[in-house]
Amino acid sequence: FKFLNNLPKVELHAHLNGSLNIAAMLELGEKVYGKKSAEFTDLCERLTKFEPGCILDECFKRFAFVHDLTSTKEGLRYATELVIRDFAVDHVMYLELRTTPKSNKNMTRREYVQIVLDAIKEARQKFSNIRVKLLLSINRAEPVAVADETVTLALEFFKSEPDIVVGMDLSGNPNKGEFKAFTSALHRAGEGGLRLTLHCAEVNNPKETKEMLEFGMSRCGHGTHLSAEDIAYLRNHDIPVECCLTSNIKTGTVSSFVDHHLKRLMEAEAPTVLCTDDCGIFDTTLTKEFCVASQSLGMTDHQCIDLTMQAIKYSFATEADRSWMIQQVNKYAKGLE
Ligand code: IMP
Repeated sequence: FKFLNNLPKVELHAHLNGSLNIAAMLELGEKVYGKKSAEFTDLCERLTKFEPGCILDECFKRFAFVHDLTSTKEGLRYATELVIRDFAVDHVMYLELRTTPKSNKNMTRREYVQIVLDAIKEARQKFSNIRVKLLLSINRAEPVAVADETVTLALEFFKSEPDIVVGMDLSGNPNKGEFKAFTSALHRAGEGGLRLTLHCAEVNNPKETKEMLEFGMSRCGHGTHLSAEDIAYLRNHDIPVECCLTSNIKTGTVSSFVDHHLKRLMEAEAPTVLCTDDCGIFDTTLTKEFCVASQSLGMTDHQCIDLTMQAIKYSFATEADRSWMIQQVNKYAKGLE
């Protein structure tokens, strides 16, 4: 545990609202909303309990509670700070945080993005050992017009804050919406220079998986139901799969850690990165994900370092960030000799 805990790590697949852990929810509730009640504590705890056989659709309902907590400007700002703090505590040196801009009575989508961006900038001062980037997510369960607005915002902020806003993600309940409906918005994002990561093959939908692979992406989210042919395609096109072990088990898309497709991907020598997805809701950390990989799949310390190097390679970081990360890992590995 100590080796993996202290290893400078790279997180490439983390949804902002899913990454708020119970302790952080309680801190947020108390500081911003003054909620200290037993009911509130109980609700936070129930949120992260998953019974075997939990279905994916059920999991998406869990986000509503956190979304309520981040529906005010101060709630969103503080939540972003807490999430970054907790990744830094877990020795994550580079974090690509993704979030779906939301509008409500307290803020517009543009304000939502601005608040998250400002919180990332503030966090740079507070937590000097972590570099944070932002990806904007399109929620496939929402109308295409919202996706268009999100892309417009992403392109705008990519121009003004190219060091922070680096890409776009397509996520949301994979049983809702159709990928085809979002290709024009995603195409515009790609044309404008944003890197794309798509939640792909999270459920068994070979037709859609094929459409996504043909469309193209820089990284593939989850890839739970990829066929051997799809895996070969990803390997040949040097597209890594963002593997989220605990998330896949808790949402029931993979039956056990030993059956996780990470094993198949590694056997096929397809590029992979290890990620948390929603470390709050799924009660995990990136260190724990590495521990699971080493315990269930027999990954050695050396392989964990290699996986981190792969994550550096496939990150949407600048060359300067990349060199800094490689230096951190090499320094750490050397210190162990
Ligand atoms: P947010 O975008 O910061 O609000 O983070 C939570 C949101 O991310 C959820 O409401 C979903 O839209 C999306 N999300 C989180 N986990 C998953 C997943 O495993 N698959 C697809 N979408 C997800």
